[in-house]
Amino acid sequence: MTECLPYILGKQNIAFFSMEIGLDGGIPTYSGGLGILAGDTVRSSADLKLPLVAVTLISKKGYFRQELTPDGWQIEHPDEWDPSQFMKLLPEEVKVQIQHKDVKVKAWLYEVKSLIGGAIPVLFLDTDIDGNPPEDREISYFLYGDNGINRLKQEIVLGVGGVRILDALGFQIRRFHMNEGHSSLLALELLRKYGMDVDRVRDLCIFTTHTPIEAAHDKFPYDLVNEVAGPFIPLDTLKKLGGQDRLNMTLLALNLSEYVNGVSKKYQDTSSHLFPGYQINTITNGVHSHTWTCESFRKIFDKYMPGWANEPELLVRVDTIPDEEIWHAHMDAKRVLIDYINENTNIGMNYDTLTIGFARRATGYKRATLIFSDLDKLRKINKKGGIQLIFAGKAHPRDESGKRIIKEVFDYIGKLKDRVKIVYLPNYNMALSCKMVSGVDVWLNTPLPPLEASGSSGMKAAHNGVLNFSVLDGWWIEGWIEEVTGWAIGPHPSEETSDEERRTRELEDLYNKLEYVIVPMYYQRRDDWITMMKNSIGKIAYYFNSHRMMRRYITEAYF
Ligand SMILES: *Cc1c(COP(=O)(O)O)cnc(C)c1O
Repeated sequence: MTECLPYILGKQNIAFFSMEIGLDGGIPTYSGGLGILAGDTVRSSADLKLPLVAVTLISKKGYFRQELTPDGWQIEHPDEWDPSQFMKLLPEEVKVQIQHKDVKVKAWLYEVKSLIGGAIPVLFLDTDIDGNPPEDREISYFLYGDNGINRLKQEIVLGVGGVRILDALGFQIRRFHMNEGHSSLLALELLRKYGMDVDRVRDLCIFTTHTPIEAAHDKFPYDLVNEVAGPFIPLDTLKKLGGQDRLNMTLLALNLSEYVNGVSKKYQDTSSHLFPGYQINTITNGVHSHTWTCESFRKIFDKYMPGWANEPELLVRVDTIPDEEIWHAHMDAKRVLIDYINENTNIGMNYDTLTIGFARRATGYKRATLIFSDLDKLRKINKKGGIQLIFAGKAHPRDESGKRIIKEVFDYIGKLKDRVKIVYLPNYNMALSCKMVSGVDVWLNTPLPPLEASGSSGMKAAHNGVLNFSVLDGWWIEGWIEEVTGWAIGPHPSEETSDEERRTRELEDLYNKLEYVIVPMYYQRRDDWITMMKNSIGKIAYYFNSHRMMRRYITEAYF
């Protein structure tokens, strides 16, 4: 093993594979929730001193940096960064076969260090190295470069290259954890390595699925697979494991993993028709408590519940904090956000106005514009108490309808201009997320069920005493207790409703709860509001954190 690896050979025996990972603001190799979850997985593993090594792609030009024109069109810029400022290129080199020739793969070593002593190595795979022709160097440039040939090449580098690099570095891996189907090819590499012994490979593999609809699973036509990957595994075996018509990465992972899980409890209900014949377990996602708690709340948590960051269960004792200190911590965070907005725009937001936040990928099912369904109602609510809205989120570069959603939000901002203060902040990333999930009063989420696998920004909000107001989908089905931890929008999933009825009820809840419950409580019953803030911390953050999540992976998936 390389000298610069300060780990005992063989100690790190769980390999966590993820196409994207959100570790640090300066390392833009994530696009959204999946990458943030991977980052939180690694951060909690470091705190808990787990024997884990993470494997991902270097994505040297990042995902993209988002610029928004004054009328709301997204412009994408490469988000180039310099790996050598953060990590070290290891000398070991392996090869993978792509389009019938060798492509060299190296790895950069990054260390995620815990404040309390643990460290986790993260290997960033790179093909942009001496000896590779330009077209192979490009493989590791952009995160999710395209859907077809480049994506498959990236998945070969991640899955096959990842296993080979771990071998070359001398790791003795006993568990391979695939975070979503992008790394499924690792199981094929193991199959090849172990003489096509399916049972042996299954013993080694764990698969976590984040995609609650079949249509969204990664699939590649077999002629493309053959062209790009060559005769890596006999075609009849591949079809048996990955599907007859196309290579389905989810199916491949399902067939080659001993343990499979979804990321929220609702998978238990949906998985029987989504994945018939497979046993799907559940480990609900969580967020890294220390990372997603803002400075002012960290301070009062440290004062009243010392040790909370490495033992988030202690947040159950949040009621020991006096109400005024909760409110002051919140107002500190709110000032940071409002100042940031007022310094960067001329919207002129206020500290004392009820502030609603909405930040997530701009794509159809997330329904960023649902709150604008009835502008008169919004104006009326605003008259009663005053509200201001803060939006953020990137659309995937190839998601034209997602880009139009951002544009629509801008159009609504124009229509409500002299009445309601609304802003769309560009370039949503980890740093902006930290400001938003701590600095607003209410965190709004309006996905179209059942498309939200879990969602995690609402868990971050809860860590900062920000109240969730959300459609009952993903994690919120588990976190929601009406008027205790937050408020629901629309029917519970156990109710059968037509699409039309669902929408009617969603809009009723959205506007009625804002007008008759949320706005009056915020302005007139501050004590009740603070009680709900404490409940968010003591009943949501206490449970929906990645320390609990990793302990579950250890006891249920890894051993
Ligand atoms: C937390 C986070 C997400 C995921 O939030 P969801 O609620 O799952 O949409 C996406 N992007 C960034 C930058 C985040 O910090």
